[in-house]
Amino acid sequence: MIIFRKPLTDIERPQMEADAVIVGGGPAGLACALRLSQLIDEHNGKHPDQQLSKENIYVLEKAREIGQHCLSGALLDPRSMRELLPGFEKEAPIEAEVTKEAVYFLTRTRKFRFPMTPPALRDHGNYVISLNRFAKWMGEKVEAAGITVFSGFAGSELLIEGERVAGVRTDDKGVDKSNQPKGNFEPGYDLKARVVILAEGTRGSLAKQLVAHFHLDRDRNPMSYGAGVKELWELPPGRLAPGEVIYTMGWPLTTREYGGAWIYGGKDNVVSLGFVTGLDYPDPRLDPQRVLQQFKLHPMVRALLEGGKMIRYGAKSLPYGGWWAVPPVAGDGWMILGDAAGFLNSQRLKGIHLAIKSGMLAAETAFEALSQNDFSAARLAGYQRRVENSWIKQELWKVRNFHQGFEHGLWAGMFHAGLQQLTGGRGLHARYAATAGHRRLKKLAQLPADGGAEAHLINDYKGDGKLTFDKLTDLYHSGTKHEEDQPAHLVIHDTNICNTRCVAEFGNPCQHFCPASVYEMVEAPDVPGGKQIHLNPSNCVHCKTCDIMDPYEIITWVPPEGGGGPNYDGM
Ligand code: SF4
Repeated sequence: MIIFRKPLTDIERPQMEADAVIVGGGPAGLACALRLSQLIDEHNGKHPDQQLSKENIYVLEKAREIGQHCLSGALLDPRSMRELLPGFEKEAPIEAEVTKEAVYFLTRTRKFRFPMTPPALRDHGNYVISLNRFAKWMGEKVEAAGITVFSGFAGSELLIEGERVAGVRTDDKGVDKSNQPKGNFEPGYDLKARVVILAEGTRGSLAKQLVAHFHLDRDRNPMSYGAGVKELWELPPGRLAPGEVIYTMGWPLTTREYGGAWIYGGKDNVVSLGFVTGLDYPDPRLDPQRVLQQFKLHPMVRALLEGGKMIRYGAKSLPYGGWWAVPPVAGDGWMILGDAAGFLNSQRLKGIHLAIKSGMLAAETAFEALSQNDFSAARLAGYQRRVENSWIKQELWKVRNFHQGFEHGLWAGMFHAGLQQLTGGRGLHARYAATAGHRRLKKLAQLPADGGAEAHLINDYKGDGKLTFDKLTDLYHSGTKHEEDQPAHLVIHDTNICNTRCVAEFGNPCQHFCPASVYEMVEAPDVPGGKQIHLNPSNCVHCKTCDIMDPYEIITWVPPEGGGGPNYDGM
């Protein structure tokens, strides 16, 4: 029997008072902390008799160190960083400035270069970065500014009092596989905060609780997502210049699926290569990690990578829903930032600049609340207004209907995208509707007879160990580690559905969409179908794909014991 992690009851928890708790030490949360610190410093410089303190402002980060769970392509549009730290380029870890782009449409063996780079993918002036290194650098700035970062602490529950978010409970440490305290047990803290700022990244677990509790998705489009799977390669010199950027569409996906690849040239012959698959594909056998392996078999990619070495692996999900899917971002005692809010431009495949800007706007609001000693819902609504009056809204408004235009496949999507380009983002309708991606999965019996793209085939894929890899080999390169003796942090609310209905209806797609082989169907002679679900939670790279894509919505990702997870060094 699988025992799932759930909060322990009947225990005393230490309490701490906080002015602001920022959950998540990625670019959004760190930008928020840094901007808040700048504003407090400016204020204290001008008003020596009315000093504001930073002592009770905390950043919670579930990784052992800032940056360890940060993964992205990544290209940085520097706009918001220039606002936050003018001249940041002089000291930030930047791999290269983009100097050359190309966009290709691929078939299985051929490539067709777009005669012009579409405006959304023109990246001159943007920077190739490792988000891991960039976040580490930002984290050092935050700590140097006097803000306390609690690394290795996950926010496990929101503390809600009436209509107000009153704080965050951190994870219990030292709980064994059967959900019982061990000798080293330490209960989580109840951090009573005047404002909780959620910057947990895509499909944040506290943001999910918040949206469900206050029905924040009412009247919004359902959020849609992509799953990005990435490898870092060391190549022989001269293959791809630092700052050279390649995007591809087409193979190995068919026109029924949304997605594409990136290849970014970094320093020292290291290349970032990845594939984003829209999590709204119809075939439940599709496997995003396998899609990346297939992609590398294309002659263009094979020629680039031949003789090179894969050095890191990782995966993350991205919010693709756009403006119509962004929930209200402020309320009584809370604000939501970055990917957790859905601030990502899916047409440009970029969100870091929006995450940083949203962090800055939340910081301005938190500063106002702190200096006026007023954390009411009305005061925090200033963040909502700031977002709506900022270039975040301007940028996302132009692509408000972009991803929904692809609901009926690639060609329809290209038509809508073209029309939207000419009409300031409107296209055929003022607001394009969307369907939640997991609802678009077809049952096995409904699949077309041709079986779809090759990437859908689910043999026990081994790869050749040089160019292509099985999941466990890839996973090894993610540096993932968890405390083994703890309950499963993938909570399946009804495993009978996995062992009976899902086997027959969808063929247990969790085995395929999870990029880390966490889900397995194992022989079980006592179970009517002969198989049952088995979990390997220690493999989890925290991408949240299972929480998003499970067709029955019975999987909830909750944070494992703080400190566990991938180690995305250099990613
Ligand atoms: Fe991602 Fe879920 Fe697999 Fe973890 S278990 S790696 S969150 S799909």
